[in-house]
Amino acid sequence: MKIHEYQAKQILAKYGVPIPRGSVAYSVNEALLVAKDLATEVCVVKAQIHAGGRGKGGGVKVSKGMDSIKENAEAILGMKLVTHQTGTQGQKVKHLLVEEGLDIQKELYCSVLVDRGRQQIVLLASTDGGMDIEEIAEKTPEKIIKVFVDPSVGLRLYQANELAFGLKIDEINPKLVRPATNLFMALYQTFVEEDCSLVEINPLIITSDGRIIALDAKLSFDDNALFRHKNNLVLRDKDEEDLLEVEASDADLNYIKLDGNIGCMVNGAGLAMGTMDIIKSYGGDPANFLDVGGSASQENVEKAFQIITQDTNVKCILINIFGGIVRCDMVATGVIAAFKSVNLQIPVVVRLEGTNSEKAHDLVNNSGLGEKLQMAYGIREAAQKAVAAAS
Ligand code: GDP
Ligand code: MN
Repeated sequence: MKIHEYQAKQILAKYGVPIPRGSVAYSVNEALLVAKDLATEVCVVKAQIHAGGRGKGGGVKVSKGMDSIKENAEAILGMKLVTHQTGTQGQKVKHLLVEEGLDIQKELYCSVLVDRGRQQIVLLASTDGGMDIEEIAEKTPEKIIKVFVDPSVGLRLYQANELAFGLKIDEINPKLVRPATNLFMALYQTFVEEDCSLVEINPLIITSDGRIIALDAKLSFDDNALFRHKNNLVLRDKDEEDLLEVEASDADLNYIKLDGNIGCMVNGAGLAMGTMDIIKSYGGDPANFLDVGGSASQENVEKAFQIITQDTNVKCILINIFGGIVRCDMVATGVIAAFKSVNLQIPVVVRLEGTNSEKAHDLVNNSGLGEKLQMAYGIREAAQKAVAAAS
């Protein structure tokens, strides 16, 4: 789960990460009040959306004086902000963060995430802050410093030092080495205690008056651990998430929308991934990832049909169910009933293997739905039939 910059900064501040003074604003008037409270000549007006790259898209404006703050707040609030992460349709800006403007001497990059290959938390840092880290990773990977953390001992001070010296903080301002190491320790502590999947500070800045500050902050939580952070659950902003994905998660379905035209309904995440791969290998394009979970009951299948078919790209649905604990005949009954109850208008290809699969095949073949509900025997045939039906 992603959260907004202003929320991330509040959490980071609790752990001792220095952040700019500022506050969230829901209207232009509120933005002006915040600016007045800050009592500083230069303020920064920042669009609060979950996507990054706001600066380039015109969503971050350094503003001098009240007139300029007003003008920028009016321009940004309500705009459809398009960045490289929003897609061309953009994301509507519903609130702003108004902060004191800071005089930047140097922009750095720092983040904490999990290195899945190593099964360790890793801290990344780079002297090229403020830029696209993906671009740095691609073009000049040697500029990214990595520190891997042994989970049994946590981040050690010598490692935080390694980051500080790697970022040449001793050369920029020797007095800032200690505050920098404290900051890295605090980022790590935040990551672990809040069960994050990402903490990213870009840029981490050194100001001309000799301070080190998290100028931007991006924070994501590991969804699987959210149950133990009730305080963080309320930070969710469903308006920033894909509508269909929200509806699916409310129904306890794991759904991720993709760009293709073959809707997928599968039990088990691994089988769902495999199904998408095999569709691709036959020249098709999956419209979604969908794991209906272990039960695949009529209710579940109905909900899944409703979600999949809201995506107007979908031309055919492929159901791939392995009956391990769940019985295939029960699934078949559920699928047939759901097909009729939601009055599906597109063809469905079903593959059902496992417990009671023969009974299930008979049920589907005698459903009276004819070509609209086709039985497929084996995963290859299922993929071939789905690709043919979609094209
Ligand atoms: P992003 O584009 O979504 O990553 O938003 P950021 O919060 O990183 O802001 C983009 C850029 O705006 C930063 O890299 C800075 O160069 C600039 N910026 C933001 N706040 C300030 C500030 O207080 N003073 C100055 N001079 N520049 C700022
Ligand atoms: Mn940034």
